[in-house]
Amino acid sequence: MKTQVLLTVDIEFSIAGTFREPARCHPVGTPAVDCEIAGQSHGLGFLLETLAAHRLTATFFVETLNVHYFGDAPMAAVARRIQDAGHDVQLHLHPCWTTFRQPDWPERVGAAPPGDSMAGRAPEEVAAIVAEGAASLCRWGLPPPVALRTGSFRVDRAVYAGLRRAGLPLASSVGLALFRPAEPELRLTGGRHWIDGVLEVPLLAFTDLRLLYRRHLKNLTITGCSGAELRWVLGAAHRYGVRTVVLLTHPFEFVKYNEAFTALRPDRVNQRRFRGLCAFLDRHRDAFETTTFAECHSRWITQGEEAAPDLATPPWLTVGRWVMNRWNEAW
Ligand SMILES: [Zn+2]
Repeated sequence: MKTQVLLTVDIEFSIAGTFREPARCHPVGTPAVDCEIAGQSHGLGFLLETLAAHRLTATFFVETLNVHYFGDAPMAAVARRIQDAGHDVQLHLHPCWTTFRQPDWPERVGAAPPGDSMAGRAPEEVAAIVAEGAASLCRWGLPPPVALRTGSFRVDRAVYAGLRRAGLPLASSVGLALFRPAEPELRLTGGRHWIDGVLEVPLLAFTDLRLLYRRHLKNLTITGCSGAELRWVLGAAHRYGVRTVVLLTHPFEFVKYNEAFTALRPDRVNQRRFRGLCAFLDRHRDAFETTTFAECHSRWITQGEEAAPDLATPPWLTVGRWVMNRWNEAW
């Protein structure tokens, strides 16, 4: 049985300190996605080239509420570029962008920074935000989305009730090491789970350190994991019969950047990790099927749930990654 690997990329523009200092800072649009250095894109361009070189497809969760600041054009162009490259575009939402609807937003954000969480809202409000976000993708000529990833993995049960009302059947909004939901039934390390009629497919989490009865969890990301860890977790997932593995990255993980995205340098360590991961998935097509949310949608709905896995890496891999990441941060 092959393990389905879902490479997911969150595509979003940056608030870039605007809520902290509205008079001095401005949101950053396409440059935060392209991450261009000397005419070469080290962000989205790097991702699309690397995926194409290994004939892999990914799901890009595209943030659409930024239209309240930028209008349709910048993100529409990004989303179409991703679709034209043969990838899957799904919905990503950061509600903080709706603040820009208010003409007096500079005074408002000065009084209190706007909330960016999809959790803590009533289902009707979630449904309205999701419908608005999905309408943007449709306006841009993309297929209606089937899956939502909430901003920063902020989620609660009401999000699923809202998704159901809005007619979206899938979510990938649990990233347990990044945000711990208040409801225990949402603390999921992976697999597939029906939550109020919506199928949640969480970002994979694994144990990277166990101390007595406590475990420390890590989500499967390019910045957070070493190349050896990524391969170990994928290998273990396949050995233990885990059917679904969701992995996360962002375009800005492949550059070292400042808040305004004006002084970029390539992040060679993360670029090497992503290239290595794609080469690994390309080499081991007998064990791994790299697929997308759009492709899996119908069969997942038919197949239903899969148990949350309990994967763990050996301590020497955790130490190795820690040293490597500290070294990379210092340069
Ligand atoms: Zn995001």
